[in-house]
Amino acid sequence: MLIVLRRNATEEQLEHVIKEVERLGYRPHISAGEEVTLVGAVGRPPTTETMEHFRALPGVAEVIPISKPYKLAGRELHPGETVIDFPTGQSGGGAFMVAAGPCGVESRGQIMEAARYVRQNGGQMLRGGAYKPRTSPYAFQGLGEKGLEMLAEARAATGLPVVTEVTSPELVELVAQYADVLQVGARNAQNFALLKEVGQSGRVVLLKRGMSMRLEEFLMSAEYVLAEGNPRLILVERGIRTFEQSTRFTLDVAAIPVLKAWTHLPVWVDPSHAAGKRSLVVPLALAGAAAGADGLIVETHPKPEEALSDAAQQLDEQQFAVLMRRLAALLPALGFKQSTLTVTDGSAVS
Ligand code: PEP
Ligand code: MN
Repeated sequence: MLIVLRRNATEEQLEHVIKEVERLGYRPHISAGEEVTLVGAVGRPPTTETMEHFRALPGVAEVIPISKPYKLAGRELHPGETVIDFPTGQSGGGAFMVAAGPCGVESRGQIMEAARYVRQNGGQMLRGGAYKPRTSPYAFQGLGEKGLEMLAEARAATGLPVVTEVTSPELVELVAQYADVLQVGARNAQNFALLKEVGQSGRVVLLKRGMSMRLEEFLMSAEYVLAEGNPRLILVERGIRTFEQSTRFTLDVAAIPVLKAWTHLPVWVDPSHAAGKRSLVVPLALAGAAAGADGLIVETHPKPEEALSDAAQQLDEQQFAVLMRRLAALLPALGFKQSTLTVTDGSAVS
């Protein structure tokens, strides 16, 4: 529920409200605006008696139930946008971010080369999986910690922050030692033990939508991360399962404006896994940006035909450069801050 304090409420009255919120088993979430202070009490749905109790406390103007089940992810408690800062740019608040790199880290040479041209073309984050969740147990599973070390080396060489997937709760501590952003993949989007663990990691989390997940369920997964006290979370639409078979998944473009209306969290698009084919990646990326995404995570490989996973959908260097040029032309027309996506000559990331 949302407890709205009177304009002239005192510091002591605020403290008393917070104490009562905690005493009754709720988590307080304070947002002090210029006009009024709101105290969110996050937890189980309140009874009429509980609401009456808070209404009667000194300094309280009104008590309103939060109607959505995703209390922390929703906009009722948090009407403004969440903005996440990185050394190379910003996600949310009118800035657009591009994370790019191979599906999996395969060798030192491969990831260093990808990092070089991602940065040279204006990418702001390097992606690459060291732990790969594969449908087949016989397929390439990733290089594990060696892959993490290579990612760290690529970050040191280029200044690009690194996003990489963590596939189980036991790996969170290790992956967090190397990665700037912990990715939770579509297949783990409702792995609640993993969501809690990344919520405690202190790292930015990038959460993919599960392939058969409704948007409300997606936000409930986000809620698991936020409820652990980690507010830095990015949501990614990466395509859902439908009856259509011409693409690997169906990019749910509508999910982007719907999520933007429901949540304050940044929403990114992943055109690569939705498409499954490299020829479709650029149009889907542009569609995601046009639909209001705050960023993009895209797969690119120096030699896509030799990739050990997702070979058909990875862009090569030239195709990635085309994507970045088209984005640079589109984003200003969409009202994004231009300065966050400057195509550089490799000497500066702006
Ligand atoms: C990936 O990013 O390589 C990946 C496995 O993505 P998803 O979880 O969306 O399938
Ligand atoms: Mn992949």
